[in-house]
Amino acid sequence: MTLAQQLQIQTPSPMDALTFFSGHTIWCKRDDMLHPIISGNKWRKLQPLLRQALHANIQHIGSFGGAYSNHLHALGYACHKLNIKFTAIVRAHPDSAPTPMLRDLKQWGVTIQYVSREDYKLRALPDYTKALVLSLRLDLLIPEGGSDGNNLSGVGTIMEEIQRQEPQPFDLIVLPVASGGTMAGLIKYIAEHNLPTRVLGIAVLKGQGYLERSIIDLLATSANNTVTENRNWKILHDEAFHGGGYAKVTSAHAEFRQRFFQAQGFMLDRVYNTKSFFALNQLLNQHKYDAFKRIMLLHTGGLQGDR
Ligand SMILES: *Cc1c(COP(=O)(O)O)cnc(C)c1O
Repeated sequence: MTLAQQLQIQTPSPMDALTFFSGHTIWCKRDDMLHPIISGNKWRKLQPLLRQALHANIQHIGSFGGAYSNHLHALGYACHKLNIKFTAIVRAHPDSAPTPMLRDLKQWGVTIQYVSREDYKLRALPDYTKALVLSLRLDLLIPEGGSDGNNLSGVGTIMEEIQRQEPQPFDLIVLPVASGGTMAGLIKYIAEHNLPTRVLGIAVLKGQGYLERSIIDLLATSANNTVTENRNWKILHDEAFHGGGYAKVTSAHAEFRQRFFQAQGFMLDRVYNTKSFFALNQLLNQHKYDAFKRIMLLHTGGLQGDR
């Protein structure tokens, strides 16, 4: 049985033609449909790591996230199903009321290690992560969001599916960006396969410069990197799109999300996809992207985080 079969991942995810965007046919890659619990892009990013973990007979994995994290939720469920011990290192106070996400983790037998905001800031520092690996007795510590230069090939499977579903290449792919791992994976695949597709990221948090840097760093640490100079990609940081920061939702976003659901019949999560779909709608209305005829929106999932 393959890993995807073990976890009952439904691939390929569907590709829908959307009618919502007036005057344009926009395609949507529905990674929200991959699995009812393992959120879309988190499966794409985690699959190479999980495969390696099984292969190397790893017993105990740890990773980082906030109290609503889609990443911890997806990884916690996968480890539960695969019988791997998992410790979630969560930025939260142990006495605060558990979120639905944390309640799910507990139900799946995940160990929760609470850390303060100050300690959480150290999560990428080698001295801190080395000490955590020792004190928690981890075999593998996965970075926040599951974004790692070594697992960009997992995201490449989105592009493989798209090419089989719609062989004529897209001019533009639009997606929400937080840590940049998903975007970096798309950029890498497109460069390696010489596709004419450009990638447009919509920042879901304030991070001008920082997000670009993290994508360049992820590409630089990936195997056989060829792409850092070839900038076939861009991130938009408009306040109107991210709404002032991570998980900030404006009334314009809320109204759009409702209207989209009524017209199209599927939900967008508040933190990520409402912002990217909203942004593309505005850009099309302002005729800023008229040169792009074939456009694809990547629905990255994430609905559990809205609970
Ligand atoms: C984590 C997440 C993202 C952000 O992906 P990055 O690879 O960190 O940029 C986007 N959408 C959803 C639903 C997510 O859970």
